[in-house]
Amino acid sequence: MYDIPLSPVEQMEQKISSSLRKWLGLHRSLTANALYAKSFKLCLPLKSLVEEYKACKVRTQAMVQYSRDETMRNMCPTLDTGKKWAVGDVVEILQERLAMKDMIGATTQGRAGLGLCAFERFADAKGCRKWAMVVGELRAAEEERRLARAAQQSQQGRWMAWEATEPRKITWSDLWTWSPRHVSFVIRSTYDLLPTPANLCRWRMRNSSSCPLCHGGICNLKHVLAGCTASLGMYKWRHDQVLEVLNKWLCRALQINTEDSENGGLDDSDKEPPQQGITYRGKTRGRIPQPGNDENVARAKIFVAAKEGNIEHGLDKWPCPGRPLDAAQDLAYTMAAEGRSASFLNPAGEWQIATDLQHLVFPTEILVTAQRPDIVVWSRLLKSIILIELTVPWEENIEASHKRKLDRYKDLAAQCRNKGWRCELFAVEVGVRGFISSSVLSLLKRFGIQNKHRRKALRELSLAAEAGSAWIWKMFSLINKSQSHC
Ligand SMILES: [Zn+2]
Repeated sequence: MYDIPLSPVEQMEQKISSSLRKWLGLHRSLTANALYAKSFKLCLPLKSLVEEYKACKVRTQAMVQYSRDETMRNMCPTLDTGKKWAVGDVVEILQERLAMKDMIGATTQGRAGLGLCAFERFADAKGCRKWAMVVGELRAAEEERRLARAAQQSQQGRWMAWEATEPRKITWSDLWTWSPRHVSFVIRSTYDLLPTPANLCRWRMRNSSSCPLCHGGICNLKHVLAGCTASLGMYKWRHDQVLEVLNKWLCRALQINTEDSENGGLDDSDKEPPQQGITYRGKTRGRIPQPGNDENVARAKIFVAAKEGNIEHGLDKWPCPGRPLDAAQDLAYTMAAEGRSASFLNPAGEWQIATDLQHLVFPTEILVTAQRPDIVVWSRLLKSIILIELTVPWEENIEASHKRKLDRYKDLAAQCRNKGWRCELFAVEVGVRGFISSSVLSLLKRFGIQNKHRRKALRELSLAAEAGSAWIWKMFSLINKSQSHC
C-alpha cells in the first residue's frame, strides 16, 4: 500500500534486534540471524521485519502478475521499493529457482523413501497457490542466506557441526514462563557467548584464559561444561538427573509403577485396569528378589504375574505350561503383526527395569559381569534384554561418544546373545546444552512412546540436561569471581 523503500525497514530491524537482545539478556555481538532463523538448531519465535517486508512486496507483485484478470496481468505495475532492492527482479529470480526445482523433481532427505514427500510443480500450480509458492521460495532463499552467513562464523556458527542433534524450538510460552536467566543461558550457551575465561580473554577483559578450578589449558565453554577434571562430580550429578527422567519415561511405557508415574501409562488405554488374571504388585522399591544379588540392584522396580504357573488371562496364544518361551514370543509377534509398534515390550512380558542411579549389578540370571550399563530392561518370560547407555556429552562430540559407548558394550551384548537371550543395545545422548541426539528418538520409539508423549519426554530430557549445565555454570562463575577478587 505504501511505497516504503528497504533501507528504513532495515534500520528499524536493527533497532528492534538491539531491543530484543537487551530484553533476552544477550550480548550485542549475537548475530541477528540467530534471532530470526527458522532452520538453525535453536529457533526463537521471532520474525524478521525485513523478511516480512520482502514477503509482503513479493506477494503483492506476484498476485498482480498471476491475476486471473487479463487487464491486470497486462498492466502489471512494478512496486516502488527503492534502489537497493527491486521487487520485479527478485520475483523473476524466484520464478527461475522454482522452474529449476520443477526440472529436478521430488527429492527426499535422509532415509525417507522415494515419493514419500508430496511435490507440487510450480508450472502446474493455479491461482493463489502460484504466488504462495513464490513467497515460500523467498523465505527459503532468506534461510539459505542466513545459513551461508552462519557457515562463515567460526564461533557462533559451530552448531552447524552438530549433525546428530535434533533442532530445538523455543516457544512464546517458554519465553513467558522461563526465568530471564534461563532464556539467556540457553541462547548464550548455544552460541558460546557466556563470559568464560577464554571469551573474556578474547574480548580483552582478562589476561589469562586458564581454568580457575584445575589450572589447566584454555578454559572455554566446552571445558567448563564437559571437560574440567575438577568438576567430574557435578557432571555425574547432571548425568543422573537426565537418567532419572529417562528412567521415569521408560517405566511409564512399560506400565511399571513408580512414585513419578502414578498417573499410569502413556495413553488412555494404559489407564485401564490390567488384563484378567494379571495383577500388579506394584511398587517393589528397593530390591529385586534375585538369587545372588539381592543386596545390589537397588532402585529397580518390577511387577510380576500374580500367580506364577497360572497365567491364563483370556488371550488365546498365551504360553501353555509345556513351552512357555516360544508361545510367549508367538504372542509378541502376533501383537506386532497387529500393527502395534514396540508391542514386543507389552507389559504382559513381565518386564523388569534396573537403573544405575545408585549401583547397578547386572541381572545374574542372565550373566555375571562387572559392566554396568545405565539402564537394563529385561523379560525373563520373553528371554529378551535391552541395554541402554546414556551419555551427556558436548554437542560436537555426540557422534564420537555414541560410537565409543556402542563399542564398550558390544561384547556384553554378544555374551547375552550367546546365553540365548535376545539382546538390543542402545547408546543415547543428550547434549550438555539440552540438544537431543536422534538416537534418543529411536529409543523412545522402540518403547512405544510416540507423538505428544514423545515431545514431552524430549522436552523434559532437554530441560534436565540444561538445568544441570546452568547449575554447573553458576558454580563455576561463583568460584571464578571469588578467585579473581582475591
Ligand atoms: Zn578446569
